[in-house]
Amino acid sequence: MTNENTLLPPEDEEEFKIDSSVCIPCSEKEPMLEFHMGEILNVIYGPKWKEDDNLKDTPHRYAKMMSELTKGLHEPEFKFTGFQKGTYQDVVAVKEIPFFSICAHHLVPFFGKVSIVYKPKDKVVGLSKLPRLVQHLAAKPQIQELLTTEIVDNILKYIEPEGVMVIIHARHLCMEMRGVKSIGNVTITSKVQGVFLENYAIRQEALHLLGVDNINV
Ligand SMILES: [Zn+2]
Repeated sequence: MTNENTLLPPEDEEEFKIDSSVCIPCSEKEPMLEFHMGEILNVIYGPKWKEDDNLKDTPHRYAKMMSELTKGLHEPEFKFTGFQKGTYQDVVAVKEIPFFSICAHHLVPFFGKVSIVYKPKDKVVGLSKLPRLVQHLAAKPQIQELLTTEIVDNILKYIEPEGVMVIIHARHLCMEMRGVKSIGNVTITSKVQGVFLENYAIRQEALHLLGVDNINV
């Protein structure tokens, strides 16, 4: 490739070469992303994209956007404390927590709703913590199955309930816009643990509370 086709003169280009054996410091990620997205636009359009008003700042916008969509990778682990549950014996359900993420396979969006139910042992969680946990775990390239598991694992770790069940309904644009072009399909994943696995009646009660048959994405 000639240097005319790149964003930067050769001496600056050197500094954007990626050494894949080390992690790039956070402060250098956005300029790196901006430079390399420019290279991708060179591949797609040739050098003319730089003269197009709609495209000329796209590498900059892309870098900002990608850093926002992957901020979960750099945030500290999301910790939450539980409160003593008092005399409350029954299940707690939070349904249809919305989320957006990008799929790790194609880096295009998938989005949907997370429903969580747990049966406390000693502690209950502040309810605002569950949407924040979901948002934190979704803010990186993800796959739906792993997001489901990571939500369950975090709830087990921080409040040690008698059981937890997480169900995610999601649409994947990599399946809708490309490939099979299966528009509007909803993918459902669930992870069931503890008392919800062992006790059919409690599981049925939880499914009824979540209304999982009527969730639209
Ligand atoms: Zn995908």
